Amino acid sequence: MNERLRDKLRILSDAAKYDVSCASSGSNRTNHNKGLGNATGMGICHSYTEDGRCVSLLKILLTNYCIYDCAYCVSRKSNDVKRAAFTVQEVVDLTINFYRRNYIEGLFLSSGIFKNADFTMERLVCIAKKLRTEHKYNGYIHLKAIPGASDELLYEAGLYADRLSVNLEIPSEKSLKKIAPEKNFKEVYDPMNYLKEKIQGYKEEKKQLRKAPLFSPGGQSTQLVIGASPETDRHILSLSDSLYQEQGLKRVYYSGYIPVNNDNRLPALVKPPLIRENRLYQADWLMRFYGFEAEELTDETRPNLDLQIDPKVSWALRNPGFFPVDINKDSYEMILRVPGIGVKSAQMIIQSRKHGKIREEHLRRMGIAWKRAKYFLCNIQSSFVLKDFHPQIIRQNLISVTHQINNQLSLF
Ligand code: SF4
Repeated sequence: MNERLRDKLRILSDAAKYDVSCASSGSNRTNHNKGLGNATGMGICHSYTEDGRCVSLLKILLTNYCIYDCAYCVSRKSNDVKRAAFTVQEVVDLTINFYRRNYIEGLFLSSGIFKNADFTMERLVCIAKKLRTEHKYNGYIHLKAIPGASDELLYEAGLYADRLSVNLEIPSEKSLKKIAPEKNFKEVYDPMNYLKEKIQGYKEEKKQLRKAPLFSPGGQSTQLVIGASPETDRHILSLSDSLYQEQGLKRVYYSGYIPVNNDNRLPALVKPPLIRENRLYQADWLMRFYGFEAEELTDETRPNLDLQIDPKVSWALRNPGFFPVDINKDSYEMILRVPGIGVKSAQMIIQSRKHGKIREEHLRRMGIAWKRAKYFLCNIQSSFVLKDFHPQIIRQNLISVTHQINNQLSLF
């Protein structure tokens, strides 16, 4: 690789690290044309750096030039940073070379906005198209859908990419207006709605016709920047819930605001709110897999998630009337709400109890977090006996269990 290209790669991969919406699960593109790569079953991209960023994709911006001036963004036009732009062919060649050398398992391509949305989107699409058609590349491609791009370009992007994402970034329109005045929610929701319809339509078609083409088979995702604006976790979770329910998004990613700009419209943070980011991911997980509603995870008086304990424990301590749960009799949904019991363990419990009464030793063998779960269970033969349910005492005990994890997070 020549010096010039190396320099571009350094600048544009560094600028891309602020976008966290890059997990690549959910695609089933196979190598059916004796081409290069295979996005199925090849261990793609579940690898993250210590601060939670995904690393096994070639994750770059096409350019960090941008006509916009979003206050929270390192690439905004008013920043005095070194600028660079790849050509379409350079990105294609880099992807193929890195893929062949086994450095990467796919491509995550985002971009600042050159000239206008269509001009930029056209280049992103062209890269994906060249990879798929000229190189028969079947590896993973995640493309950023540029807000404001035409439906025709979004359509083409969907035909070549495994996943598309349109970033909402700021969780309310009011804050967006303040810190990114050139943007608006409509420009993000329009492409999201368009992609939702296409993704659903093609999914249906695929059911009828096995040979129907894929359209963004890994669905679409978005990213929210946390802590650059004053929205509460309650607001953010309810927004995420609506993005999952109404827009059919596959994932909402949360990116703790990294204080890169000195701008008086932004809060004076010393470091990114990583523990808050982690709590939001936990709460998001509870909504997607544990049947929790967004409003259950916070309340009007405490609209932010507790940073000291995880949201499931926090909910349990605020709802003592729900406990104790009888592991040997209660429903799957109730067992799933017990802190320390995950989806797989809850399923195992339901299966195992058909064969006899479940005791502490069985739960431990199933891998449940007994230190957490023991406060919330009854009718179980155990050496631990809870005399009274004192939320404050249990909370203190459980904080010490989670303390270590928080310490690790605060190091980054
Ligand atoms: S449009 Fe995107 S790249 Fe440009 S300044 Fe805003 S956030 Fe940064």
